[in-house]
Amino acid sequence: MALVVQKYGGSSLATPEKIKALAERIVARYDSGDRLVIVVSAMGNTTNSLESKANALSGDPDPREVDMLISIGERESISLMAIAINSIRPCLAISFTGSQIGLITDNNHRNARILEIKGDRLVDALKTGKIPKIAGFQGVSTEKEITTLGRGGSDTTAVAVTAAIKADACEIYSDVVGVYSADPKICDSPVLIKQLDYETMLTISSLGAKVLKDAAVEYAHRLGVKITTGLTWTGETGTTVCKESSLDKNKFISLVLNDKLSYKQTNGGLNLPSDLSNVRFCQSSGSYGLIVFNGLRDNNSHSCFSLALVGSGLRSECVKLNEMKNILSEKSRLIAIDLSDLKFEIYTETLISRDVFNKIHNLFFG
Ligand code: ASP
Ligand code: MG
Repeated sequence: MALVVQKYGGSSLATPEKIKALAERIVARYDSGDRLVIVVSAMGNTTNSLESKANALSGDPDPREVDMLISIGERESISLMAIAINSIRPCLAISFTGSQIGLITDNNHRNARILEIKGDRLVDALKTGKIPKIAGFQGVSTEKEITTLGRGGSDTTAVAVTAAIKADACEIYSDVVGVYSADPKICDSPVLIKQLDYETMLTISSLGAKVLKDAAVEYAHRLGVKITTGLTWTGETGTTVCKESSLDKNKFISLVLNDKLSYKQTNGGLNLPSDLSNVRFCQSSGSYGLIVFNGLRDNNSHSCFSLALVGSGLRSECVKLNEMKNILSEKSRLIAIDLSDLKFEIYTETLISRDVFNKIHNLFFG
């Protein structure tokens, strides 16, 4: 019998039918002997649509109020999940918000950091044989305000809860089984990676791969939590993220496309914005300045795209990296290139097409 924390993402809970099917799977797993704690995120596109409502009313909505608003998405999911499970087996599930499990954060609204999880109610619920449902992505600050952990933050909740209750496993389920050499939604021949070390996973996540949130990987590394990813609908597991990689000898690990970036270029040198939380890349030389942001910044910025190869010892792969650069420069103006031994990233002005993406994937993984 193991104590397992499972996290289910928004697409796993998008409709009542999906919630019902998931509830059945969870009860079956419970009946197989494992004790479970379930962390959920908001249904489908809920968080985006809540955010848009706030943005429709104000160009700069108060972060405290936005947290109050966007935290309700997860509250809907936990109660519906608990209702679905209890309709199969009465009184088996109980839902908790972040503040009810004592998930305490700093006061940095919309991007709060977890300080501690008291977890008493969670432990009590487990002792009585229940399956606790926890609202991911949210907590309560030291100043008793509702906070959220940054978009995609339910993964972080799952990792922190795993460490707090010393669970045996942290399983993160979504509609992709694991981490691949490239996103299977755009890649024709993706290769599944069975085991990855924290540092490499952090690089892949922070470049924009959606499978695991970067902050969650950072927590997992710090707290020594092993993460296993899996596919919601079959329970099949894909990638384990832990101390060692199964890929030590591989030069090329993953190709990551990000289409949610923007940039500003100036001829008057580089002025760093006062809020650096979304700054991804900066370059400055003489009177020239360039900043690339995660997400769309404002009306004065232009959208851009990045394609990044993650690997090891990349500096010794000059020929192939040049070929990747040449393929991209035939299709788009290149805005910047960022190179280290672990990453080769090219920022382009035009979206990289599926064909071009696959051509470059073949270059490294074919
Ligand atoms: N619902 C939140 C979001 O969409 C948190 C999460 O999905 O993990 O960002
Ligand atoms: Mg979500």
